[in-house]
Amino acid sequence: MTKTAKSILSDVFGYTEFRGHQEEVIAAAMAGRDSLVLQPTGGGKSLCYQIPALLGDGLVLVVSPLIALMQDQVTALEQFGIDAAYLNSTLTSAAQREVIERLRNGQLQLLYVAPERLMQVRTLEQLKTCNVVLIAIDEAHCVSQWGHDFRVDYLSLGELARHFPGVPRMALTATATAQARSEIVERLELVDAEHFVAGFDRPNIRYLVQSKLDAKRQLLDFLSDHQGDAGIVYCMSRKKTEATAEWLIAKGFDALPYHAGLDAATRARHQGRFLSDDGVVIVATIAFGMGIDKPDVRFIAHLDLPKSMESYYQETGRAGRDGLPANAWMVYGLQDVVRLRQMVDASTADEMHKRRQRVNLDDLLGWCEVTECRRRSLLAYFGDVLDEDCGNCDICLTPPDVFDGTEVAQKILSTVYRTGQRFGAMHVIDVLMGKDTDKVRQHGHESLSVYGIGSELGQQQWRSILRQLVVLGFLSVDTAGYGAIQLTEKSRPLLRGEVELPLRRDFLIVRKAKTRKAERKVIIVDAQDNDLWEALRDCRKRIADDKNVPPYVIFHDATLMQMAADKPQTSDAFLQISGVGQTKLERYGPAFLEVVRLAEA
Ligand code: ADP
Ligand code: ZN
Repeated sequence: MTKTAKSILSDVFGYTEFRGHQEEVIAAAMAGRDSLVLQPTGGGKSLCYQIPALLGDGLVLVVSPLIALMQDQVTALEQFGIDAAYLNSTLTSAAQREVIERLRNGQLQLLYVAPERLMQVRTLEQLKTCNVVLIAIDEAHCVSQWGHDFRVDYLSLGELARHFPGVPRMALTATATAQARSEIVERLELVDAEHFVAGFDRPNIRYLVQSKLDAKRQLLDFLSDHQGDAGIVYCMSRKKTEATAEWLIAKGFDALPYHAGLDAATRARHQGRFLSDDGVVIVATIAFGMGIDKPDVRFIAHLDLPKSMESYYQETGRAGRDGLPANAWMVYGLQDVVRLRQMVDASTADEMHKRRQRVNLDDLLGWCEVTECRRRSLLAYFGDVLDEDCGNCDICLTPPDVFDGTEVAQKILSTVYRTGQRFGAMHVIDVLMGKDTDKVRQHGHESLSVYGIGSELGQQQWRSILRQLVVLGFLSVDTAGYGAIQLTEKSRPLLRGEVELPLRRDFLIVRKAKTRKAERKVIIVDAQDNDLWEALRDCRKRIADDKNVPPYVIFHDATLMQMAADKPQTSDAFLQISGVGQTKLERYGPAFLEVVRLAEA
């Protein structure tokens, strides 16, 4: 029987239908055309270059910046009975010789290679003697100098066009910005590339953004629905990742820190535990995550704000690759706004770069404050239109209480003005609330007309309002100095009452959170199938440990769930389950069928 893309999809990977543009992308590669594949994380990009490797007799090269993950990818492919290997600096010379030997003998279908390795003259010469049929460039946005993952080594990949004339190249990325897109085509010198652009919606990810009141308590409250789940908690500083991990351990979570300051062995160990064991929470800086293709990450929590909408989208995109429900949760407060602005101002980047960073940050802050469906505004930012509210974000689930903030805003603005625009948020609020502090007395602020005009609200409320005014541009923070709150051009019309100002009443969130619990729950299997589900997971874990691979490499959660629901009794029934192909049926079918049989007995 002749192999077709479709037959490989079902025989090898055990899936019945192509997803998104997969089929067309594969067809373009087989026809020798260059392509640019933009798909959100979890969209199924890897099959786009893996299937061509199984269709012909040639070799598919996969350029990847993620040395640490090449081995995992190769291990996963081996479980499908695919001949794959990788070349990078982590291999011993003996192992390298073995890979080269396999290349010479035409025994490899897929070769993963780091860009710096690929572009070495010796490697290029070796590969030119192989029958290379496709070059896939994964994480292609790494060529984008404005992007968040820029890699110098990616810049020279454009030369591949000359080294391998006539060999189609496929650039793949989950990056959503139009700018990165054009940079990829230009820098990689793609010729008449077909663009396959999927929508960027990740419907299974629930977006939840809260204002920061008591971050630790809020995090704990959020995590109470994620006992035993794998997830990532992002923090800005190395120190904070360590402190937070320690604190989570004390609260009973299996947490581990990860940041660039840890030695390589520790990082590898922590990442390994995250991939292999159930329910590990990694507390990390942004040093962790790119290319982590663990499918069952159930939550991403941001204790600090990312740098831009793009970063937020990428970081949260690591949740729920398997398509099952996942949560993206974030808290932010006035402090974060001030600190991030200060960081941009103090950075050594040139003016143009800084201006861009400011715009990026403001876009993100504005999004934090939206009062309409978060998913719609997130997607709109990337040019995607969603026709309806999503019903799966904090705003859709618990619409914020919006009130006319004109009067309270005027009180803050007047206080800022009367105290001379020289003080930070804390003091401004103390004056407003009529507090008797040293600083108040020292500056004689108790005699100002604004002293105590805001006694009707508490400190949290005032902080929330002040933050909104800063984000909306009615006040600014003197980031070069000591964080003094100052008036802006937009302040005057507001003071005169010429504009209306709807604000969010977000200081009630913590109290409300309790009643919302049920809504946040990530539901996995029917209660009556729970024992079988656990037994199947145990079986998977035993096999995985035995082979020293992560459990999801054996089968994904979604596949086990279908087993738990369908309870297959025969090999044929087992093969019907999505994610079961021929090789996996032969290797693992007996063990899992036995588990089902025992449970049914
Ligand atoms: P990406 O690299 O785009 O983030 P992956 O290639 O890792 O996504 O695929 C995400 C998940 O979707 C994987 O678990 C993969 O096995 C699964 N998948 C890919 N294509 C299909 C398909 N046609 N049908 C069902 N599942 C698929
Ligand atoms: Zn929504």
